[in-house]
Amino acid sequence: MAAAAAAKIAEVRETTRVERIGAHSHIRGLGLDDSLEARHVSQGMVGQVSARRAVGIVLQMVRDGRIAGRAVLLAGQPGTGKTAIATALAAALGHDTPFTSMAGSEIYSLEMSKTEAITQAFRKSIGVRIKEESEIIEGEVVEVQIERPATGVGTKVGKLILKTTDMETVYDLGGKMIDSILKEKVQSGDFFSCIRFTRPFMSTDCKITRLGRSFARARDYDATGQQTRFVQCPEGELQKRKEVVHTVTLHEIDVINSRTHGFLALFSGDTGEIKPEVREQINGKVAEWREEGKAEIIPGVLFIDEVHMLDIECFSFLNRALENEMSPIVIMATNRGITKIRGTTYKSPHGIPLDLLDRTIIVPTQPYDEKELREILRQVYSNLCSATPYYPSIRCEEEDCQMSDNALAVLTRICKETSLRYGMQLIMTSSLIARKRKAHEVEVEDIKRAYQLFFDEGRSVQFLREYQQEFMF
Ligand code: ATP
Repeated sequence: MAAAAAAKIAEVRETTRVERIGAHSHIRGLGLDDSLEARHVSQGMVGQVSARRAVGIVLQMVRDGRIAGRAVLLAGQPGTGKTAIATALAAALGHDTPFTSMAGSEIYSLEMSKTEAITQAFRKSIGVRIKEESEIIEGEVVEVQIERPATGVGTKVGKLILKTTDMETVYDLGGKMIDSILKEKVQSGDFFSCIRFTRPFMSTDCKITRLGRSFARARDYDATGQQTRFVQCPEGELQKRKEVVHTVTLHEIDVINSRTHGFLALFSGDTGEIKPEVREQINGKVAEWREEGKAEIIPGVLFIDEVHMLDIECFSFLNRALENEMSPIVIMATNRGITKIRGTTYKSPHGIPLDLLDRTIIVPTQPYDEKELREILRQVYSNLCSATPYYPSIRCEEEDCQMSDNALAVLTRICKETSLRYGMQLIMTSSLIARKRKAHEVEVEDIKRAYQLFFDEGRSVQFLREYQQEFMF
């Protein structure tokens, strides 16, 4: 059974990559020097030197393949950079290292069992780096067609049809310009598992190359966008392309091969439970690829925030899962001291059972002083400036960051009295307020306005208390 079914295993390709500015977008790595010492400010990271140094050692252990069976616990107050450090570790491990972040409480709200939720999180954090030679649908592609209305080149709707001997897949190119969408794919280096465009797709001259075989085709289009002919692709071009590798996660492979869910579930995120047989089959296939040198496993990082919210069943499951040869690096975070282990009447440090704590490296994080807070805010703001297209006139150099010193001082003060998270919200909102008054520099008045408009937790609670009569019916 395995051979026939496994042959059908297809890889998943991400068709759109959306870059968003998130809370941790300013982080590009752990900011360590060659001897793994933490630089005070580097790669978007600020302070928290001893935790970063400790995680640097974890990084070395991962690189040396000596982390198996262990987990890391970041323990510290809210807003002390636990998530930031986990993100930094993933960035330091390399651009194709999968990083999954989940909160302990999340597993109770998903429409699946707790252990299935943890299994999915584990498999989302394990990358499979596939070499292009390991063509999965090798020899089966019969035809690739672009269909679009005959009204002319560059029209907005169209379909890309990929025909193989077993199936025909139609990709709707929707409301995007066909040429531009394809060009995007070409520039990002990949498209479907079995075809690769050898140069930017032009409406009158397109070349589609199949890899893994000495067989490739190009197809020309006439001015109306209808295909006219096939031509053979030069062998040399194929050779060049054979070096290409790409990484997918085990979870993506699971979903696409799960009959009940299929490819589209990847986009909706509604994958439901995946049958153990599917996973077994995929593990078998991946093991085969590894033996043949066609793929390698990239252990990623699974970050579990509020880990004290997991219960005893989850902890036991986690303990076992860590032993698996393909386990990702599990980084847990908590801000609790001695507390009850959920699902039991026992207390333990951080609410984690002792047998799991036993195999855990604990790294504490410390609160920031005012200088560090100010520097973190500066890093976040300069990242926002460089990443936001509607700030073209603002250069991204840190020393050029357009927030007045006074505004930054006020913001730092607010952070100290409320939280770093709240300060982050004010950065975005006050920047927008400054933009509205057509200013290029965020001033104290913009921070003040944002502070008045958006409450922090303390003021919100106070407001509700004061007006609770009006809220009750
Ligand atoms: P919680 O316990 O509430 O989950 P946390 O300890 O995980 O908090 P983070 O979310 O990492 O804290 O930090 C809050 C914000 O501050 C994030 O935007 C993060 O990127 C930024 N930040 C925290 N510490 C640092 C740091 N040392 N260097 C740069 N940015 C940081």
